[in-house]
Amino acid sequence: MTVIVVGSANLDRVCRVERIPGPGETVLATASAEHCGGKGNNQVIAATRSGASASFLAALGSDEAGSTLRRTLDDAGVTSLIRTSDAPTGIANITVDDSAENSIVVSPGANAALIDLTEAEHAAIRAADVLLMQLEIPVETVIAAAEVASAAGTYVVLNAAPIQRLPERLLRHVDLLIVNEHEAAELAYALQSDRQQGDPREAAAILAGIVPDVIVTLGAAGSLIVSAGASPLKLPSYSVQAVDTTGAGDTFCGALVAALDADGAAVRDLVEATSFATAAAALSVQSAGAVSSIPSLKETNDFRD
Ligand code: ADP
Repeated sequence: MTVIVVGSANLDRVCRVERIPGPGETVLATASAEHCGGKGNNQVIAATRSGASASFLAALGSDEAGSTLRRTLDDAGVTSLIRTSDAPTGIANITVDDSAENSIVVSPGANAALIDLTEAEHAAIRAADVLLMQLEIPVETVIAAAEVASAAGTYVVLNAAPIQRLPERLLRHVDLLIVNEHEAAELAYALQSDRQQGDPREAAAILAGIVPDVIVTLGAAGSLIVSAGASPLKLPSYSVQAVDTTGAGDTFCGALVAALDADGAAVRDLVEATSFATAAAALSVQSAGAVSSIPSLKETNDFRD
């Protein structure tokens, strides 16, 4: 399976504090660390570790953070289609307190400069079996990439996170939409503002009126697959001791596209791919960190046996 991820890469700067400071306040961190992050980065690494041949179209600055991200992606075996931007590499400043509450400021930097895809970038999208995107880059780029992919028969997967208003014409180019409960409710509400918010099945059914297949992830409760014209299917998650659920959704998306048996818009076994992704995500929540907890193909297969 060849996958292209068009998306974001950030350096996450994490400070642990006893309590998140209020306006005008300064507190001392008890520990700090830097990690590679960004949904695009996490998902392309998850796809690669799950056995896909994956490339990554993203934008990084020519700075230390950019070098760190490039090195990590190379080490993971991701094929780089990375642009070097004049803007600095995206940074996420994350503060986590003792009760695991967090406060995050993201400076998109180079991610915001990922616009005006070139002909060579279009060709890379056309050549892939699957295009996987999220919403941490300019939405015009997401739309342009989806249009190129769907015209070429490349299967388009959109993880609509972080949620924002999306034009219906983008959704019409999407073959598979992956959203969590909150994102499903927001998107469905934007399409049909008179409906009651809250029920993920109802939200998924509305979205499945536009996108052929919709997966709503439900955290520890598993996921819901809703396909146009079929009854919804609930897949339970594995009962595991969750240590850190950061990046569970990213692991799920990357593992799922790696496991797809897709031939253009015809996906042969979405349920099997979702089941594989559920196992990979269950493994990822059992250790700390987003990227460091993403399992390999062997680890996921062993876990499923
Ligand atoms: P997001 O991180 O995008 O909000 P979810 O929290 O819904 O996404 O998690 C994505 C998937 O990760 C779930 O569908 C499930 O398979 C798995 N998962 C998340 N939390 C747990 C958990 N506590 N135990 C087992 N699996 C989990």
